[in-house]
Amino acid sequence: MQIINRMRCQRLSELIEEIARCYKCEIAKYRTKVVPGEGAEDADIMFIGEAPGWHEDQQGRPFVGPAGQFLDELLALINLKREQVYIANVIKCRPSANRDPLPQEILNCRQWLDRQIELICPKMVVTLGRYSMAMFFPGKSISKIHGTAQKRDGIIYYAMYHPAAALHRQSLRQIVETDMLKIPQLLAQAESITEVKQRSQQLSMFEV
Ligand code: URA
Repeated sequence: MQIINRMRCQRLSELIEEIARCYKCEIAKYRTKVVPGEGAEDADIMFIGEAPGWHEDQQGRPFVGPAGQFLDELLALINLKREQVYIANVIKCRPSANRDPLPQEILNCRQWLDRQIELICPKMVVTLGRYSMAMFFPGKSISKIHGTAQKRDGIIYYAMYHPAAALHRQSLRQIVETDMLKIPQLLAQAESITEVKQRSQQLSMFEV
């Protein structure tokens, strides 16, 4: 097991070096630091946010600004520290003036996220916000599917509002906390959750 972990760790650091050499998008030219993601290479849970903001761009680390502080608080609610999970973003460079990621940027970055998921092989992928949700639950609305999950190819995908949204809209705070508190139960039930067959249609969502 230790050998597998060491190999995985090595391949993940090679991937991170590869991400750092990526200049496919215009925004890569203007980044201070690339923000590939960080955390436990064998994490059970992977959180996927939207894009680095100013703080993340400065430090090269995901979720280190105000939204990150709130994410840390949310993790504490389920007795986890950020080192025990893996945190990444849909795109790895900061869009200028904190604009939303462009479709082409999301497309260009998709390969990195797919390879991170493949290497980390989490039991659960938690999408934070609309952009991350759209990658795994295309065509769905976050107000409808937050707090619900779907198992595909052995991974539970679970949609949540972005922590920053809860910082801006007080009414979302309780919702985000409640959704976070459902995660341990979902993980505990991981084996017994039925897979969704139709990958593209994603018909049967289940609620906890
Ligand atoms: N918001 C995100 O979506 N990702 C970060 O890393 C920080 C803020």
